[in-house]
Amino acid sequence: MNFLEERIVKDGVVKEGNVLKVDSFLNHQMDIKLFDQMGEAFKEKFREKNINKILTIEASGIGIACIVAKHFDVPVVFAKKAKSINLDGEMYTAEVESFTHKTKNQIIVAKKFLTAEDRILIIDDFLANGCALQGLIQLVQAAGAEVCGIGIAIEKGFQPGGQIIRNLGYQLESLAIVESMNGETGEIVFRSQE
Ligand code: 5GP
Repeated sequence: MNFLEERIVKDGVVKEGNVLKVDSFLNHQMDIKLFDQMGEAFKEKFREKNINKILTIEASGIGIACIVAKHFDVPVVFAKKAKSINLDGEMYTAEVESFTHKTKNQIIVAKKFLTAEDRILIIDDFLANGCALQGLIQLVQAAGAEVCGIGIAIEKGFQPGGQIIRNLGYQLESLAIVESMNGETGEIVFRSQE
């Protein structure tokens, strides 16, 4: 097991509805040393990609993205979730359905922060059905920029997002892929990756 898988086994809690709770170290209280290890791991995987910007989505992607960005020495842009569709023309927008809240949100990024020259690394905490990622990819495409890689902390491999995104041809790297998890015993099985 790698460092993140070990931490998930130690402190993750399997909840009903295929939800893995990792709020003691990842998306409520945040373990910055762990984030730093994740940054190092992503830098290793995307070293050759000439990344010049990191894109994530509020809220829980932001903390990880900021620490990852230190390893690439690039800025972070986060897509905002907007309730209103009354948005001016200075924004790129996409629609995203939230896995955890079952609601639909517009996500937006100001046009001035995504340009056709950008080589983007997308970072997020979880990958489940892939809706968040598809929304982020749409924003990058609308700007004429390039998605050069996608880094995810925890992918739930039993949900379809990973396969959908890989089939689109993107280099998607997840530091931990949960193959299965049992809500009664709490057992978590990871996909082996080399
Ligand atoms: P997707 O759009 O891929 O279905 O879901 C991705 C988003 O849903 C992530 O940004 C994350 O915030 C949230 N999410 C999905 N599954 C889980 C989960 O099992 N646990 C937690 N804590 N968040 C999740």
